[in-house]
Amino acid sequence: SGDLDGRARMASVRVAVGVRPLNKREKEMSAKVIIHVEGSTTSIHCNKKHIPNGIPGSWLKDGGRHSFSYDFSYDSTDVRSPNFVPQEKVFKDLSCDVLEAAFEGYNACVFAYGQTGSGKYYTMTGSPGDIGLIPRICHGLFCQISEKGDGASFRTEVSYLELYKERVQDLLTTKTSPGNWSGLKLREHPKDGPYVENLLTRLVQNYADIEELMHAGNAKRTTASTGMNDVSSRSHAIFTINFTQARFDAELPCETVSKIHLVDLAGSERADATHATGAKLKEGANINKSLVTLGSVISALANICVTGGGGGSHTGKRKKQLFIPSRDSVLTWLLKDSLGGNSKTIMIATLAPADVNYGETLSTLCYANRAK
Ligand code: ADP
Repeated sequence: SGDLDGRARMASVRVAVGVRPLNKREKEMSAKVIIHVEGSTTSIHCNKKHIPNGIPGSWLKDGGRHSFSYDFSYDSTDVRSPNFVPQEKVFKDLSCDVLEAAFEGYNACVFAYGQTGSGKYYTMTGSPGDIGLIPRICHGLFCQISEKGDGASFRTEVSYLELYKERVQDLLTTKTSPGNWSGLKLREHPKDGPYVENLLTRLVQNYADIEELMHAGNAKRTTASTGMNDVSSRSHAIFTINFTQARFDAELPCETVSKIHLVDLAGSERADATHATGAKLKEGANINKSLVTLGSVISALANICVTGGGGGSHTGKRKKQLFIPSRDSVLTWLLKDSLGGNSKTIMIATLAPADVNYGETLSTLCYANRAK
């Protein structure tokens, strides 16, 4: 398929949104739920009180309801509601593509995008009694490995890193103390693509191995953020699975490699919303740079017409080669070979349902809308 650097020939982007319940504080202040889900459509109620600049007046018509449709919309606002979507359903909808990609030798990427406190960590990692996508995908991978007793052998390695102010910290190493952002450099291998130099990759034999590493990494992320201006909400966490299958194909040895990136992004709240100044603003600007670049990359991928590269039923759509600005941020560079090409990309936008979050929620809905 040649070098896909800067381009994507065929891409698949799926977009889901998830809405969390009102939290205690929001309930205490009698906040109203302004997000409604019907099928795959998510609507937001605009009211004059919360309307930000730049929103067209037409949005206030039709009772102020503005709708967006995505591949999936998940309503988890009320556990007692018949429409409540549990984590299991999110996994069932979204993980098929990822696991299929892994076994077919394609790369995949899953992102959680949203403002701090909207449910990114819940969606990606979850809690011990209510696990999220990362543990479920890892578990699913090992289930499928044990089902495939067809003469193939499998090797699974994981790494876990945190990216803050365009710098990388290894979440699996026990060598350095938490908060060591300086050392690791991003490099690019001509054949294997971008990688972080000296980042630890750990061989895992089963789900329990992964679970242990994930816990250790999460603990390190939390420790590092204590007293440091809540770094964890301003950093991206990337959990990567390197999956290799070896088998004999027509009596010839053949190896299939795939990379799965599972990403808990930094909070999407805008620098201007926090009234940040000086160093803090710069930090906000850095984070935005990764998120803005990611948005451009994903929306470019979403707009690519499938060229029908492998031959077959091409339906006369105009061929289009779009430039993908992968190198404009560390995040998108690192994920370059998992965005576009034959990779599967899934974005989950997480939403807080309360009226007080109107501006951020609307901006998340729009970001997700660009990715369709
Ligand atoms: P973020 O990672 O975006 O900052 P969190 O995942 O920490 O947000 O979520 C904030 C709080 O909301 C947590 O207490 C979390 O358990 C809760 N929460 C988030 N999403 C859901 C959900 N879908 N159902 C129940 N609780 C949720």
